[in-house]
Amino acid sequence: MGLADDGGLILPDHYPLVGNRMAEFTSLSFQDLAVETMSLFCNLPRETLARIVQDSYSTFSHPEITPLVPVGNFQVLELFHGPTLAFKDVALQFLGNLFDHCLVQRNQDLNIIVATSGDTGSAAIASVRGRSRMRIVVLHPKGRVSPLQERQMTSVLEPNVFNIAVDGSFDDCQRLVKELLQDVEFKRTRSLGAVNSINWARLLAQVVYYLRVCAQLSREKGKLPVTFAVPTGNFGDIFAGYVAWRMGAPIRRLILATNENDILARFFSTGDYSLGQVHQTIAPSMDIQIASNFERYLYHAVGDDPALLRELMRNFSHSGRILVEGGRDRDVFRAGAASRAETLATIAEVHKQHGYLLDPHTAVGVTVGRRLWDGVGSLVALATAHPAKFPDAVREATGVTPRHPILDALDGKATRVDQMPPDAAQLRRYIEERFPARSDGR
Ligand SMILES: *Cc1c(COP(=O)(O)O)cnc(C)c1O
Repeated sequence: MGLADDGGLILPDHYPLVGNRMAEFTSLSFQDLAVETMSLFCNLPRETLARIVQDSYSTFSHPEITPLVPVGNFQVLELFHGPTLAFKDVALQFLGNLFDHCLVQRNQDLNIIVATSGDTGSAAIASVRGRSRMRIVVLHPKGRVSPLQERQMTSVLEPNVFNIAVDGSFDDCQRLVKELLQDVEFKRTRSLGAVNSINWARLLAQVVYYLRVCAQLSREKGKLPVTFAVPTGNFGDIFAGYVAWRMGAPIRRLILATNENDILARFFSTGDYSLGQVHQTIAPSMDIQIASNFERYLYHAVGDDPALLRELMRNFSHSGRILVEGGRDRDVFRAGAASRAETLATIAEVHKQHGYLLDPHTAVGVTVGRRLWDGVGSLVALATAHPAKFPDAVREATGVTPRHPILDALDGKATRVDQMPPDAAQLRRYIEERFPARSDGR
């Protein structure tokens, strides 16, 4: 479930503590640690959970799943070894298998519908393709996603995958999806659902790598506590880090890094969360103003007070502004923004000094991380995309064109995509024609 029935988000009622288990965790594989972590939050039988986890990470090309690579005086946590080369695979591969399991148990089907500006679409498609109980419809703004991202989505020809190029903006795509999902009756009869980043299961899958890094570094002298630099858009990834911190992991700071869309960076320095215009940047997966998971943190920041949170969110929907004085836990967060020039300079410098190519999202994290890290313990920068996904920025910074065989293989592949104007009635018809209404009254 994404949104709760009352429109709020779901959180655990407490955070189980694992701070004293780091030595035990060092001997576990990524998959075993995932089972260990997730079983603290869910009541699936352990063998079932273990099978879902094994299946989910069998699609990753690196035996470590999320390897930690030393680069100069910091480390890079590579989260991009999944099928679409972005960190979203870590959560969505798991979510696809988890949904599949639940749907078989309940003898139900699920039709996923998502709007994407790029990375989410391909990762969501990769998590659903070929599954018998799930279908997916992905709306992208025609001509406004990178050609590479478009090919990653439209070259998937399985019959349960539907790509729609909408003659409009990403906001149009989002509005169409939202309107459709607001019709509760239509949503029920056509078994429609979402896989957006507010789903708790996605966050849970991301908590695993924070704990794993802490366990890995606990083996070496002087490497703890860990400061993580996290390139941030919807506040999902960094909220998973916050959960790991609440669980007692030896985390010193979570450094929230944004591009020019710096609403979150401003909040963490001033307590003022005010909407502005969305700027297009070289790190487009972070071109976001309203961060959908921020509400989760805000709940804790106002002292776990649901009534106060509801009031803040209600005011925000009219005024576009939230003001919070001295939040309780703000001390684990540090925040900053990186400009286009700073991001390109970081890519160039890290390549020149260390021979390592950063994608622009990761470079935003590295820029702000190095600026704000106090030198205690370790600095770990989360690498959220493979550089070959964003070749133009990397080439501009270094003169090198990064490649990856998965992306090279897309060249010349057949594609399938439908076209549509930004019209909610047409989208509705599209769904009606393809997904029969269920008549079983479930
Ligand atoms: C989605 C994404 C992000 C932002 O992550 P959030 O969980 O939305 O904060 C950063 N980098 C890349 C490459 C992404 O795809």
